[in-house]
Amino acid sequence: MEVITENQPQELRGKQVAAAIMEDNLCRAEKLTAAGHQPTLALFRLGERPDDVFYEGSILRHCERAGIKVLHTVLPEDCPDAEFAARLIAAANDNGIDAMFFFSPLPRHLDEPKLRELIPAAKDVDCLSKASAASVFCGDDEGFAPCTPAAVMEMLKYYQVPLAGKKAVVLGRSLVVGKPLAMLLLNENATVTICHSRTENLPAVCREADVLLAAVGRARLVKEDWVSAGQVIIDVGVNADPENPGKMCGDVDYANVLPKVAAATPVPGGVGLVTTAILCRHIIEAAEKAAK
Ligand code: NAP
Repeated sequence: MEVITENQPQELRGKQVAAAIMEDNLCRAEKLTAAGHQPTLALFRLGERPDDVFYEGSILRHCERAGIKVLHTVLPEDCPDAEFAARLIAAANDNGIDAMFFFSPLPRHLDEPKLRELIPAAKDVDCLSKASAASVFCGDDEGFAPCTPAAVMEMLKYYQVPLAGKKAVVLGRSLVVGKPLAMLLLNENATVTICHSRTENLPAVCREADVLLAAVGRARLVKEDWVSAGQVIIDVGVNADPENPGKMCGDVDYANVLPKVAAATPVPGGVGLVTTAILCRHIIEAAEKAAK
C-alpha cells in the first residue's frame, strides 16, 4: 500500500496495484487447487471484434498467471440464440465451472438481456445479470460488482484515499461503470454526486469534489479549471486520442490537471491495468464459495 503525500502531485499507477492483487490471487488459487478444486472460468467469445480479442488475450494471460483454468469457447458471430443459450445453461449447471463470462455487447441478433440472466449470480464475475447488479445496490456479497468499478475501489484502497464523509463526484451514469461505482463509493460512506450529460455547471460541481471519478468516454473532457487543489482524480476513460493518432487517452486532460491536484491516475497505466486482476480475484472468490 502507498499513501498520497502532500509534497507534490502523485501519479497513481495501476501496475503495483495489479501486481499486489495477482500475488494474492495466485496464493489463493494454489490453496484451492491443492485441495482439489482448481478455480475454473467458462469464457465465451462470439465473433472476432478486435476489442474482444484484445481483452480475451489479457484474460487468458492473467488466468494462466493466477492458476485459473479457462474453458474457452469461441463461436461464430452468427451463432443462433438457442445454441448460445444452451451453452450458458450447461455452464450454469456444471459444478466444475465456478465462473462465467462473455464479451459484451453480443452480436445484435442475440437477445443479450435474456442471455445475461442465464448466468447465476454466484458465477457472474463481471456483473452481467440484474441479480448481480441488485447485489451491488444492496451492498451484500451474493454477487460480484463489475470489474472496472471494483478496480477503481481497489486503486482508492491501495493508495489509502479516505472516502468516509468525503465528497465523491462520479462523471457518468452507465450501468457498467458510473452507477455501480457510485454505489460502491456509497458503501464506503462517501457523499456521492452522480453527473451526466444533462448536469448543469459541471465544472463547478467537479471543483467541489474531494475525489473526482471520470467515466464519460470523452477525450480530455476534464480540464484544469474543472479541478481544485487537494483533489484525487480517478480516470476510467479509454478513448482514441484525437491529438495522437493510434494512441489512447483518458477523460481527463492529465498533463494539465495533475499539477493542480493531489493525485491522479494516468491513461494508459492507471485503472485499466487493474481490471483483469480483479476479474481473476472474482473467479477465485467464486471458487472459494463453491468449495465451501
Ligand atoms: P457510456 O455507457 O457511453 O456512458 C457514458 C456516460 O457519460 C453517460 O452517463 C453520459 O451521460 C455521460 N457523459 C457523456 N458525455 C458527457 C459530458 N459531456 N458531460 C457529462 N457527462 C457525459 O460509457 P461507459 O461504458 O460508462 O464508459 C465510460 C468510459 O470508461 C469510456 O471511455 C470507456 O471506454 C471506459 N471504460 C473503461 C474500462 C476500463 O477497464 N478502464 C472499462 C469500461 C469502460 P448520459 O447518461 O446523460 O448520456
